[in-house]
Amino acid sequence: MDAALGPPQAMAAQREELTPMMAQYHDLCAEYDDSLVLFQVGDFYELFCEAAETAARILEIALTKREDSTGTYPMAGIPIDSAESYIESLLEAGYRVAVADQVEDPDEASGVVERAVTRVVTPGTLTESELLRSDDNNFVAALAHDDGSYGLAFLDVSTGDFVATGTGTRETVRDEVARFDPAEAIVGPEAPEGVFADGCMVTGYDPEAFAADAARERVTDYFGSPETHLAGRAEVRACGALLAYAEYTRGGEHGRLDYLNHLTRYDPREYMVLDGVALRSLELFERRSVHGSEGTALVDVLDETACALGGRELKDWLRRPLVDRERIEARLDAVEELSEDPLTRDTLRGLLADVYDLERLVSRVSRRRADARDLRSLKATLDVVPEVRAGLDDAESALLRDLRERLDGLADVRELVGEAIQEDPERELTEGGIIADGYDERLDELRATEREGQQWIDDLEAQERERTGVDSLKVGHNSVHGYYIEVTNPNLDRVPENYERRQTLKNSERFVTPALKEREEEILNASARADERELDLFREVRRDVGESAERIQDVADALAVVDVLVSLASVAAQYDYCRPEVGGDAVEIAGGRHPVVERTVESFVPNDLTLTRDAPVAVITGPNMSGKSTYMRQAALVAVLAQLGSFVPAESASLPLVDRVFTRVGASDDIAGGRSTFMVEMTELADILRDATEDSLVVLDEVGRGTSTADGFAIARAITEHVHDEVGAYTLFATHHHDLTAVAEDLAGAKNLHFRAEREDEDVTFVHEVAEGAATASYGIEVAREAGVPPSVVERARELVVENAENADVEAGEASESTATAASADGGRADAGSDVLDELARLNLAEMTPIEALTTLNRLQREL
Ligand code: ADP
Ligand code: MG
Repeated sequence: MDAALGPPQAMAAQREELTPMMAQYHDLCAEYDDSLVLFQVGDFYELFCEAAETAARILEIALTKREDSTGTYPMAGIPIDSAESYIESLLEAGYRVAVADQVEDPDEASGVVERAVTRVVTPGTLTESELLRSDDNNFVAALAHDDGSYGLAFLDVSTGDFVATGTGTRETVRDEVARFDPAEAIVGPEAPEGVFADGCMVTGYDPEAFAADAARERVTDYFGSPETHLAGRAEVRACGALLAYAEYTRGGEHGRLDYLNHLTRYDPREYMVLDGVALRSLELFERRSVHGSEGTALVDVLDETACALGGRELKDWLRRPLVDRERIEARLDAVEELSEDPLTRDTLRGLLADVYDLERLVSRVSRRRADARDLRSLKATLDVVPEVRAGLDDAESALLRDLRERLDGLADVRELVGEAIQEDPERELTEGGIIADGYDERLDELRATEREGQQWIDDLEAQERERTGVDSLKVGHNSVHGYYIEVTNPNLDRVPENYERRQTLKNSERFVTPALKEREEEILNASARADERELDLFREVRRDVGESAERIQDVADALAVVDVLVSLASVAAQYDYCRPEVGGDAVEIAGGRHPVVERTVESFVPNDLTLTRDAPVAVITGPNMSGKSTYMRQAALVAVLAQLGSFVPAESASLPLVDRVFTRVGASDDIAGGRSTFMVEMTELADILRDATEDSLVVLDEVGRGTSTADGFAIARAITEHVHDEVGAYTLFATHHHDLTAVAEDLAGAKNLHFRAEREDEDVTFVHEVAEGAATASYGIEVAREAGVPPSVVERARELVVENAENADVEAGEASESTATAASADGGRADAGSDVLDELARLNLAEMTPIEALTTLNRLQREL
């Protein structure tokens, strides 16, 4: 256990003797023993003992000490004003942070000021806008086990998104976790290991929170009977524990989280499975940087959403493509309609651009963290809703019509906020300037008193000048003495009797009168009471708005979907996508393009692809850089796009409903991803061989590269045969194992495809055009030349290839005894030379990567 957590040893040993404040610190540390406790002392948050040492080290702040009658304790403090950035660093260092604020006015406290933990900041439950920088979802997950089943729940506390799912297998748990990519997870007893990503903070959480009864009670409290939402006890346990954890992070006094109204349960089978490997290698979300420059992810080219709500929704669609044909067609109908209607699209986008992040606003309202400006933003957004609704008046597709119905303008909420909150309110809630005139009679009275008093004072100067005949007399105000009447020294003899001296300056004296004092008090009084009244009224309004949280969330949902549909339609229209046909029993893509690559190259060459039930396997060969990987990934991306309800980058596309996309990239091709071990590659392959069905789309890119050539080929061949004979999945297999083309020829359901390179004199151009049949040559040397390998080396390599070609049958990749003999029989060369020739003859260039070829050549050259 980390000594920085829990009550400090030095204090625990003498708990009863501690000063009241230190006793308080000790007890909070004991209660929040999984967190660093930040303990408010005036304008600072302090930490003590081991926690102080840890914080000082991480934050690079001074370590001081506190001394009292019970001892000397190391101490470190951070200013409250800049606490957020320090908290962020502590999170990055892997800690949770419990913030213990003074919850009582120190001036009014008798004895030690009361403190309470008001929030526990953890990576998965961030809500504070300073720490939550992106609009993306930020999930915390819970994983529970019960009698052979697993329950998973994901919660975004900043938006109130709460989803649950369940499964019987550890692999599915891992896949579903990959979709949501939680920042943090709590796990119950007997939860499987190794299902969360490395960056995710995983904690074994209080088993009591996971206990069946407690969990069931909590879920019921929030959502009603668990049976109507969830399938199985494991899911109930996960949801219950997650609710308990979310409550815990809101600090002791908050209790129930009102804004968690929706629990959505899904079955993993409702969505196309995209495991972590597929998500990464298809680059749906992650921009994998290419040669240091920032890469582009699918979501980047697809996202033309106008508001944060839509941005998050789009990512959710992308994360979970559908497998239900009706739902897909419903989305496609809507996208099609909008894609043909640029005017409506523009109108809607213009409106949606004015939409604030409604989900986070509602969540703040419910957590009583919203300020007056938040309520104004909420109203501004709701003001747009009737217009969005009107924009959909002529909509024909069922989905758009349904969305239109859901766009409730929430007139009552708008009216309330409009009447109650000033147009440009103060951020601070305690200093007035929040509530609008005319909303509350008492507030208006107080303000009138304030104004009248002010007016009286404003008039006082003229009045007193007249009364005293002193033209230089002034009425002023300062924060120490309040209002005063100032008379310069030469005129002091004209000061009336009722003036009381207040302050003597060098050239003048300052006075007050009983009437002025009285007025002043009246103003101050009225002002303070008005501020208080405003705060009370504001809290009331916020609570009332909070009552409508569920309705607002529903509107937010509808707005989000409209935004996504408009975005998909815009992309479709702009980049010439077509409506895919889904649900057939073949992949037939005409003129397909890679949605990301086509935006980055000058002219993209479209390609066709046909895979049928009878012939579902294609082996793809061709030189490096000829377009194999791009071609295969574009097929997978087209399938993903189609099933999330988007048009696809092709002239036409007809696709089966794919249950799962598998992608595996050979180890040596994925060094950039830092996963270059052969073991990883084989583990991933094992998943395919176990889980693929005839409805899966399997993309294998240079698999079997991380081991010896013979092994690699054997594995590649065995896989091809298995996928072909046993699984029947739609499969694309790009390979450098030339021998595999012969295998494809032998299998009834497999065919060869290849990419060509055109060679003109010394130059090679890649035409990026796929064609039937197997490739014949490798162009490693030309690629090496393009990469800037010195001409002398390239030249020598060419000679060697020519010699090699004369001596061996390279194409078939046979390293035959006879060629070696032929080379030595040729005679006339030194022994070293004949050894080199011998080895050259045995080289199978088609199987080598350019680097391998070059290294070998380099060595051979040296031997010569
Ligand atoms: P391979 O897998 O055969 O080595 P890639 O698919 O990685 O080749 O493609 C290499 C590069 O060629 C890509 O980064 C892209 O710039 C370009 N490219 C690939 N396919 C096409 C295409 N159809 N049209 C235009 N350029 C392409
Ligand atoms: Mg490749």
